[in-house]
Amino acid sequence: MERIVIAFGGNALLRKGDDQTFETQADRAEQAFQKLAKVIEDNEVVISHGNGPQVGSILLQNESAVRTVKPMPLHACGAMSQGLIGEMLSNGWDRVRFRLGISKEPSVLMTRSVVDPDDPAFSNPTKPIGPYYSSDESARLQRLKGWKMREEPGKGFRRLVPSPIPVDIVERNQIVSLLREGFLPVASGGGGIPVIKTPAGYTGVDAVIDKDLASSLLASIVEATTFIILTDVEGAKRNFGMENEELIGKVTAERLQRDLDQGQFASGSMGPKVRAALEFIKRGGKKAIIGSLDNATKVAEGKSGTIIEAGSL
Ligand code: ADP
Ligand code: MG
Repeated sequence: MERIVIAFGGNALLRKGDDQTFETQADRAEQAFQKLAKVIEDNEVVISHGNGPQVGSILLQNESAVRTVKPMPLHACGAMSQGLIGEMLSNGWDRVRFRLGISKEPSVLMTRSVVDPDDPAFSNPTKPIGPYYSSDESARLQRLKGWKMREEPGKGFRRLVPSPIPVDIVERNQIVSLLREGFLPVASGGGGIPVIKTPAGYTGVDAVIDKDLASSLLASIVEATTFIILTDVEGAKRNFGMENEELIGKVTAERLQRDLDQGQFASGSMGPKVRAALEFIKRGGKKAIIGSLDNATKVAEGKSGTIIEAGSL
């Protein structure tokens, strides 16, 4: 039996052309779990996931009801998305396990990621979130709330928030306990709710944590042997989108680091996955795999995807 952290990409809940209803997302979750039933049954597995479209919708709802309901801060919207997605994933996994007679129950954890208040990201917000605003509204929000705004030509102004690096997980002991007790924990959703440690406890901060980096930290903290990132491509590719594009199969951390340094992986998508996989190996993890959700069964068996191992091959 192995201990494995599996990070779901956006396509585990929504694909291009899907309506965004609750049921569609739960159906997608069920399809994803169907492929992973055996690996979940046979191993200690933690599931992590993104929350981009879902928290985006919550922010829009906040915005459109601003006159009647107090809008919640971004970190609280993150907490809402963990609960929402947690229900979708729980329903999806329960359907699969009832069908197959698997007793392992899902357990969704509100999870907080600790960030450093001195993280340079706080003085340089880069991550656009929420609705688009007009130029007037944007100026008002900047004045009133101190938000940093950026114009996206032709679309309007959007709020920019910091994307700090997660350094710890508040609920780490709970996750490990759940694993030992035979549950399927769902943790660090959407990168975890960003908090800073204060003498009095923890305080939520308005930031967005990269879900790949947060899952990587999660994998190290629970001492997983394998960290799997499932997304919508077969793996990391060299010369992506070009004629000489090449899927990277088995690769050493050292070689992949060189590809990363050479700029082979786009910063908002494959870059953070490769970085997250390498961080896991650097912290002592044995194996990290970036693969496609559609091949999830093979990926979990280590037979598909970009397979990163420590040392030389
Ligand atoms: P997720 O929701 O799973 O995090 P992302 O869209 O963030 O998905 O990342 C996956 C995407 O990364 C792929 O669909 C692909 O378009 C893009 N990508 C960028 N650079 C590369 C690369 N070098 N190799 C493979 N995919 C890449
Ligand atoms: Mg992504």
